[in-house]
Amino acid sequence: MFFLDNASTTQCFTESAEIIKQALINDYFNPSAKYRYAMEEQKKLNECRRIILSSVGAINFDCIFTGSATESNNLVINSLVTKHYVSLISGGEHSSIYEPVQKELEDNRKIEFLKLDEFGAVDLKDFEDKMTKDVGFISVMYVSNETGAINDIKQIVEIARSVNPKVLIHVDAVQGYCKLPINLEEWGIDYLTISSHKVNGPKGVGALIVRKKCKLSPQILGGGQENGVRSGTENLPSVLGFANSVKIHMSTIDEDYKKVLEFKTNFYNRLLSLSKDSGVEMELNGKMCGFSPYILSVSFVGIKAEVLLHSLEEKDILVGTGSACNSHHSGNRVLEGMHKSKQEVEGNIRFSFSSESVNYDAQCLAQTIIENAKKIKRK
Ligand code: PLP
Repeated sequence: MFFLDNASTTQCFTESAEIIKQALINDYFNPSAKYRYAMEEQKKLNECRRIILSSVGAINFDCIFTGSATESNNLVINSLVTKHYVSLISGGEHSSIYEPVQKELEDNRKIEFLKLDEFGAVDLKDFEDKMTKDVGFISVMYVSNETGAINDIKQIVEIARSVNPKVLIHVDAVQGYCKLPINLEEWGIDYLTISSHKVNGPKGVGALIVRKKCKLSPQILGGGQENGVRSGTENLPSVLGFANSVKIHMSTIDEDYKKVLEFKTNFYNRLLSLSKDSGVEMELNGKMCGFSPYILSVSFVGIKAEVLLHSLEEKDILVGTGSACNSHHSGNRVLEGMHKSKQEVEGNIRFSFSSESVNYDAQCLAQTIIENAKKIKRK
């Protein structure tokens, strides 16, 4: 099988799956209990927090474990979009930001959406225009799950803080975490969202990294776990698996980046030359240069992406049509924000890679994809 949909999820590392299995059997004590075994579990949880905080260069931060990045994003939006100030939200955000923001709009909150440039990153000119002293909260993603566009977080923070030094800033880093460098002390942001299953950890775990003393309004009330911010008995086995996968990634992050970039470049160049030769119109959504090597978004103009997806599935090649989390909605808010035509939106395929994908034959894959696109076009 050729799995080219790693932005939607990834395979759990075998070593992490083994750690989870052992923990399910042996580490079953409730970390909140008062006996020695339970305290050992609490220590293990805290060690996982330490690993995750250090992976993003966070010194003055806490790590709150949640059930998913979706939960982390909801927690941030529900806590920080308030009636006291204006909130700026990037137009490229994932639905786990966009949907809770829609709810806040129903409550008449003052929210403005930031425009995207033609490549899918935040339009910095629009940001400068909208960044006033009244803005108290900003949410911007690091890497676009749709196109692989990278937002320059350091620059966004600099612009924002030069206007309002107290503005709170959240970054959804799900698609950049363990792939591209993140240093929270350098960035100077306040909240960061990450997800385990996007980095070869188990599903059902996410985290919100929060600058110490920054506020959050708990959405799940109960036993007061996770500093009172997220009640519910901690999922220690999965957290152990998550932290282990992070450790593995961080030890190879630079070499993986180079390998994946080389693979993406070869794959795209081959797709491009074959599409030209065979009369299949293919458009790149975004740019090759300065984008995440882990995501390649193209549009096969005049072809319905879903038809191509299923024809590739028959050849055991699994791809995405835009974001999996968007697959219940028609259209594509992000590509539309980039002023892509209806045909480009309909023909959008997202290829997303992992360090495993580099073992595939890029030339062969590209050939099969273009052959299938050509057949569909002829029908
Ligand atoms: N944020 C981004 C940018 C994503 O790409 C995704 C999933 O695709 C999420 C958040 C949600 O992640 P989770 O599946 O952990 O809820």
